Amino acid sequence: MTNVLLVEDDPAIAEPLARALTREGYTVRPHGNGQGALDDLSDVDLVILDLGLPDIDGLDVARRIRSQGLNVPILILTARADEVDLVVGLDAGADDYVTKPFRLAELLARVRALLRRVGGDLTDEDELIAQDVRVDVGAHRAFQAKRELQLTAKEFELLRVLLRDAGSVVGRETLMREVWGLDPSGSTKTLDMHVSWLRRKLGDDANDPHYITTVRGMGFRFETAQG
Ligand code: CA
Repeated sequence: MTNVLLVEDDPAIAEPLARALTREGYTVRPHGNGQGALDDLSDVDLVILDLGLPDIDGLDVARRIRSQGLNVPILILTARADEVDLVVGLDAGADDYVTKPFRLAELLARVRALLRRVGGDLTDEDELIAQDVRVDVGAHRAFQAKRELQLTAKEFELLRVLLRDAGSVVGRETLMREVWGLDPSGSTKTLDMHVSWLRRKLGDDANDPHYITTVRGMGFRFETAQG
């Protein structure tokens, strides 16, 4: 059972969202204010948190959750674009955010990604292998044959996500979200740069790829075998 704490005081948003989450199989615990949510943190798997709450500012709610030592993923709902800077800049401990108005499908995709990132799936993907490349997720180490790859944190995450879905195309937006955890619209060049650095470390050639294939207009695919 996956418990989602939904902290949103606007019923026009909270009610349809609660219905959609319930349809997805989550157990929703709705709260219209911050204190109620803070009093209900046991066995929570994900927090969806509105910033504009009637009692406690959403960022403070996020901070208080973190100050209790809880690692639960927090997805922020924000109505104002200038709040996004706060969410990102103040390091309140949020994992991702969506701006209102949002599409339900988009929000549910974020929820799934966050739960996958931190959830019980991790043991299944503790070791990821394709061709001679291996990622030990728990130890945060990556190898090509017997050689350990010296990767930055972002390169490691990028490789991890590509390897997890090896053989399939991983969309640019998915990569941006899972590796950078932010709105994918901003920094698509960043993604291309990191793919290029990762290729270099793997000794791969973008024009004749052995490992990472560019799928135009979509994303990237880590090849399971040389075709
Ligand atoms: Ca609100």
